[in-house]
Amino acid sequence: MLLGPPGAGKGTQASILARELRVPHLSTGDLLRAAVAAETPLGREAEGHIRAGRLVPDELVLGIVRERLAEPDARDGFLLDGFPRTIAQADALDRLTPIDVVVYFQVPTARLIERLAGRRICPKCQSVYNVRSRPPKIADRCDRDGTELVQRPDDRPGAVATRLQVYEEQTAPLLEFYRRRGWLRSIDADGPPDAVTARLRAELGPTVASGSVATRSSSAPVHRSPSQ
Ligand code: ADP
Ligand code: ADP
Repeated sequence: MLLGPPGAGKGTQASILARELRVPHLSTGDLLRAAVAAETPLGREAEGHIRAGRLVPDELVLGIVRERLAEPDARDGFLLDGFPRTIAQADALDRLTPIDVVVYFQVPTARLIERLAGRRICPKCQSVYNVRSRPPKIADRCDRDGTELVQRPDDRPGAVATRLQVYEEQTAPLLEFYRRRGWLRSIDADGPPDAVTARLRAELGPTVASGSVATRSSSAPVHRSPSQ
């Protein structure tokens, strides 16, 4: 599980790590945005909350997480990005499936604001860019499919302020929740993306090097699929 404020680089690192670990990258933000784009009933209900920078109600998010974890590719492990975000979600996750490790991404607030202001995404494949730190090869076009990049409505300044506040109030308490269990590790997630990836690998050590989630600390539960 990758934990940290909006803009900390969780999604960027998750896509690299998921490839290395050969597990799916499960981002509730991506799943919710896909539901909004597809105009499903869930998407219609979630859209206003997302746009304003508020959290989507727990029951809705838990519904999509349950469905996603039940898919065959999540049977042997998964990487959670952006979930859980409230203590109620963390409690529900406990009942759903065990997790191995929680990594907290530490980044100064001023840097988060700078990163969020520069974030652009591909509305088609969800690839993430940054006008400063990770520009596309051709201006405003996705490297993978050439689609015109967009700024997320919730990356505009008003919504960013709300999201940072929501993070402090509702998500930051999860740090203590997981620290008490001995599952929490922290990395300095400031600095260039490659340096952050190297710190993440070093922190996870053999967990990543082996390309599997077979190496765990003795205090963490053994991972099982949701159906077991
Ligand atoms: P970021 O990583 O920049 O915070 P995400 O893509 O994870 O953004 O989430 C975007 C928005 O989707 C959140 O601001 C919130 O409205 C909604 N969202 C994503 N995950 C959750 C969650 N676990 N619980 C409630 N709302 C969520
Ligand atoms: P999160 O999922 O935590 O909200 P993202 O991975 O989407 O964060 O990163 C937020 C923005 O910052 C994106 O535009 C991304 O390209 C950029 N970014 C990610 N990691 C770094 C980094 N280490 N240094 C500079 N910019 C970064």
